[in-house]
Amino acid sequence: MERSPIVGLLALQGDFDAHRKALAERGVESVEIRVPSDLDGVAGLVLPGGESTTMLKLMEGTGLDSRLGDLIRGGLPVLATCAGVILVAREVRHPAQRSLRLLDIVVERNAYGRQIDSAVVDLEVADGDDLGSTTLEGVFIRAPRVTEVGEGVHVLARRGGDPVLLRQGRFLAATFHPELSPGSPVIDLFLRSIRNGSANRGERT
Ligand code: GLN
Repeated sequence: MERSPIVGLLALQGDFDAHRKALAERGVESVEIRVPSDLDGVAGLVLPGGESTTMLKLMEGTGLDSRLGDLIRGGLPVLATCAGVILVAREVRHPAQRSLRLLDIVVERNAYGRQIDSAVVDLEVADGDDLGSTTLEGVFIRAPRVTEVGEGVHVLARRGGDPVLLRQGRFLAATFHPELSPGSPVIDLFLRSIRNGSANRGERT
């Protein structure tokens, strides 16, 4: 029988445990990533929500950012959610912040208001074939807004016209929290991208 892939969860801070549960419900094992050697042998990677500023600080001096960069540029399937998207964006504004510059988008932090303005929203699915569903719920918690999308980035879903679910090759980015929506097709899409390798539909370079 084919061995189930092991997914790495960036576990410096934030809601990585909700991702662990969402993966476990689908029979997928995960490991917590805090130092570069934790990444050895993972088949995919989750960059969870939380506080991107804190995550950046906790990465300093560990060598984790450069190892993550190497693996992601090498095509490791990734699911980044909320703060995880801020970590990897090409540019971060409002306030400006350093980033790993791995995903060709510009984001504005906390653009939908404060914690109290957090919302569960029915999203506009822009590519249901790729997503594998024509409906999608988005849980937004002090989410960033994507204000610019590069050429190689495909928009899968929007909120009020703003891109909120994007794919750049095997890199999937959600400004919301799919791990908090039971049975979310976003988690299933991430797992398909791990299992199907580069034959994945909608693949871009
Ligand atoms: N506002 C947070 C940040 O800027 C992201 C919030 C989240 O991940 N839910 O990092």
